Amino acid sequence: MSPINTSTVYLNGQYMPQDQALVPVTDRGFIFGDGIYEVIPVYGGRLFRLEEHLQRLSNSLAGVRIDNPLSNKEWSQTLHELVQKNGGGEQSVYLQITRGQAPRDHAFPDDTTPTVLISTSPLKAASTTLLEQGVSAITLEDIRWKYCHIKAIALLPNILLRQQAVDAGAQEAILIRAGLITEGAASNLFIVKDNTIITPAKGPFLLPGITRDLMLELAATNAMPYKETDITAAELFEADEIWLSSSTKEILSVTHLDDAAVGDGKPGPVWQRMHALYQAYKQALIAGTAN
Ligand code: PLP
Repeated sequence: MSPINTSTVYLNGQYMPQDQALVPVTDRGFIFGDGIYEVIPVYGGRLFRLEEHLQRLSNSLAGVRIDNPLSNKEWSQTLHELVQKNGGGEQSVYLQITRGQAPRDHAFPDDTTPTVLISTSPLKAASTTLLEQGVSAITLEDIRWKYCHIKAIALLPNILLRQQAVDAGAQEAILIRAGLITEGAASNLFIVKDNTIITPAKGPFLLPGITRDLMLELAATNAMPYKETDITAAELFEADEIWLSSSTKEILSVTHLDDAAVGDGKPGPVWQRMHALYQAYKQALIAGTAN
């Protein structure tokens, strides 16, 4: 296999060098943020949980009323081809579909072909320091819309929230809507209380994370107690452990929240176990015995 060089992208049916991939300024993705996206990690050249990512892609498209431009078989072939062209190994695939190009008007245009872009970038493993020390987070009010289950490219609220966290010296913003925790600005949220793993149930106020779902599967198969239920702000602050999950960051332990230590300020034992199970799952994927 050739070395990883993620310079090839797929745009509207063609593979080409990234610097030659151009989209007209009338594209509704550029003008309105009218589109959806997916991020799929690749380990050992294999696409992680592809079926689940394609199902969420299809749900997001249906949620914004864009017809799915490709069948799942076509998606799979295209994604595999791009990953191979870019050298396999560990990559992060970014896939975006917009409603296409049209004169600027809020209402949907007639007969517009969706714009499809797929690119990849190197996927970096979390550093040992990050895993040993965990990350810090701040709590903020969830200012986003009521369709957070759709993976929409219009991420301005998430961007502002994440930047507020970064400005405060933290890595993530944990969001609170009407007294309940929803998720992070770009991650799902879990707490551990008395050895039980708790995460908010799916619904319109959070993205149904593929990492989140796998973690619950791993908890179930390994007899780790878990619940999908509301988490109040008070429960967050009293948690023994707090975790964040996402495809590119995997599972991170939050060891400081709003400047106070979570537990003893170190990644906890339940996180250690879940992190190890997740790493074992990735090895099984690379070996071809998991998807
Ligand atoms: N929630 C939000 C708002 C996200 O942006 C992400 C990922 O970027 C997630 C949750 C985690 O989803 P996944 O595990 O599928 O990456």
